[in-house]
Amino acid sequence: MSTENKHPLVAVVGAGTMGLQISLLLAAKKINVVLVDVSRQKLDQALLRMRNDVRLINMMATENDRITDACIENIALTTDINDVTACSILIENISEDVSLKKKLYARLAEVIQPHTIIAVNTSCIPVNSIAEMLPDPSRVIGCHFMNPVYFKKLVEVVRTPFNTMTELTTLTDFLKSIGKSSVIVQDSPGFVANRISHLMMNEAAAIIQEKLCSPKELDLIFKLGYGHAMGPLETADLIGIDTVVNSLRVLEDNLDRKKFLCCSLLTDMVEQGKLGRKSGEGFYSY
Ligand code: NAD
Repeated sequence: MSTENKHPLVAVVGAGTMGLQISLLLAAKKINVVLVDVSRQKLDQALLRMRNDVRLINMMATENDRITDACIENIALTTDINDVTACSILIENISEDVSLKKKLYARLAEVIQPHTIIAVNTSCIPVNSIAEMLPDPSRVIGCHFMNPVYFKKLVEVVRTPFNTMTELTTLTDFLKSIGKSSVIVQDSPGFVANRISHLMMNEAAAIIQEKLCSPKELDLIFKLGYGHAMGPLETADLIGIDTVVNSLRVLEDNLDRKKFLCCSLLTDMVEQGKLGRKSGEGFYSY
């Protein structure tokens, strides 16, 4: 690990789409990271994807924002959850599945120190329901990073009734130190960003199912017509179709069953393994 570390050790739990990007961002900021996943294979894949991401970031970044492969040495990979014990901030990014998250938090309650801030990176699960799993729920704050992590300037911070300004300021100061602005919103399923964006991605998929236009044409309407950086179907592929479906189910169960009812094209794609960028095929081929 780097000796230049200026920040406390940060643990990142879950080495999928988000966990690997967040780890790389932190490592590039010279922060020592311990990256935990239940799957050794996922950790090995994360390492390969981080090396590839360094190349992609440098293709798109300005000169000052370029990073090197060497920063990956700041990340220690492990399948042992006990390795998070020393961390003062833990960023949780495991699969969007309430039962898996609840099992993990029961275990975290045994291994983390009392002062550790737990930043929950979920798309839609109410943070409150996760915080209740810990003896001190005030330490748990929603921390909705946007994808692609390196380039998105904002993190949606989700406060529960348990949080005080002390914990919130610790988290927002930390986020500022890694170059992210925050907007603090109240806890509710899907928060602000995903309650709107998932409705849009679901409707975009329904339009493709009805064969009203092609994915490329639909995305072009949003990019050239509305000036969005990406269209809703490109976004769904980037997020992962499985994660979009899981998130819509959380919104269905917790907000409005009819409004957020998942389009069958999305569930069919998951069954066929068409998960978007991470599997090589979704609305587009990669
Ligand atoms: P993913 O499916 O790509 O990765 C999840 C990882 O968690 C997998 O590698 C899995 O092996 C691991 N995991 C599962 N249970 C675990 C446990 N108990 N301990 C350690 N690791 C475990 O998911 P993702 O897209 O990275 O999403 C992670 C979280 O972030 C989800 O809650 C998601 O809703 C949220 N999120 C995703 C995006 C996105 O664009 N994908 C954006 C913002 C927030």
